[in-house]
Amino acid sequence: MSVNDTCPSCGQKRMSVFYEVANIPVHSCLMLKSRDESVAFPRDDLKLGVCDACGFVSNVVFDEKYYAYSAAYEDQQSFSPTFNKFALQLAQGIVEKHGLRDKRVVEIGCGKGDFLALVCELGGNDGVGIDPTCVKERIKSSVADRITVIADYYSEKYSDYVGDMIMCRHTLEHIYRTNDFMSIIRRSLKDRMETAVFFEIPDGLRVIRDMAFEDIYYEHCSYFSPGSAARLFRQTGYRVTDLALEYDDQYLLVEAIPNGWPSSQIHDLEESPEDMVRYVDEYSKNIETTLNRWREDVTRMYDERRRPVIWGSGSKCVAFLTTIGMNEEIEYVVDINPHRHGKFIPGLGKEIKSPEFLKQYDPQVVIVMNRIYADEIRELLAEMKLAPEIVAL
Ligand SMILES: [Zn+2]
Repeated sequence: MSVNDTCPSCGQKRMSVFYEVANIPVHSCLMLKSRDESVAFPRDDLKLGVCDACGFVSNVVFDEKYYAYSAAYEDQQSFSPTFNKFALQLAQGIVEKHGLRDKRVVEIGCGKGDFLALVCELGGNDGVGIDPTCVKERIKSSVADRITVIADYYSEKYSDYVGDMIMCRHTLEHIYRTNDFMSIIRRSLKDRMETAVFFEIPDGLRVIRDMAFEDIYYEHCSYFSPGSAARLFRQTGYRVTDLALEYDDQYLLVEAIPNGWPSSQIHDLEESPEDMVRYVDEYSKNIETTLNRWREDVTRMYDERRRPVIWGSGSKCVAFLTTIGMNEEIEYVVDINPHRHGKFIPGLGKEIKSPEFLKQYDPQVVIVMNRIYADEIRELLAEMKLAPEIVAL
């Protein structure tokens, strides 16, 4: 395996490794049909490096040969009322702010198309969604016939699809060659200097600062902070018009427009590369303590026969269990997404159960993979007359 010390964002040979997790599943949201398939799922190492020139963090041993996004990729979040409320407000805000009415909106990495459909419904817009995981039939919307789906990876080939706005949510963190990707989009915009781009990515600064190791996994090869994101956008020919943190500060929102010359406009939210290196040093010093605490907690739950289960079967769950190196201690994983039920999680051999299953299993502890859903989950448990201890990450 080759270590690449060239920063994929700024191009300087300044990446140094600060965190390693060996032998983890190379995907976390691909749904597998059997336990055997799950256990045999390909694994590889993750080594996070930080660039001291631009503050960008990425997996320096990432291998693009593992890209396998397809219809079997299941990351739809719209089964959660908490998430839907956020998505609706976000879409309303974008439609208002950018006057998206009777316009054409392009979404790169549209997933199952929920958000694109929302923007099209709210503003009476046409939409183009480009994503190898998108399934046209699953877009349940009154404007479904106004949405074109291209089930493929975005590339130069699709540079004619610009429309009046380009959106790209929860995609850039899966792209290794970040500078190339932003440059392709910038070239597609040509001299349309008014056309805005909107990106939403996990805030990598929070991940590092809060020791959120469950947010570090193979699928995510790129980790942006407000500063490193803004610096990449500026370097690839954009002017950052807004930066914001949303969803309990878990998501970083970036708005930008093309720029003819290197922009020097710095946003308040941006931290310096030196700040990022400092946070990374702290992470590297303290992460083992955090992991050991979880190992002890989960071991105790198991030893005391409290039947701990995990709520949320996505990437965080895969990362949580593989990073602390535990699997047998937690027998079951549940999820509210019905498209996941009966399927298996990559690497762990676990079948995903519906929350209903908990009625018979009667867990005494539920480990919630994202604390933003804790209240919603507590309510669902109460409806099933269950009151386990809730431990939220
Ligand atoms: Zn860099």
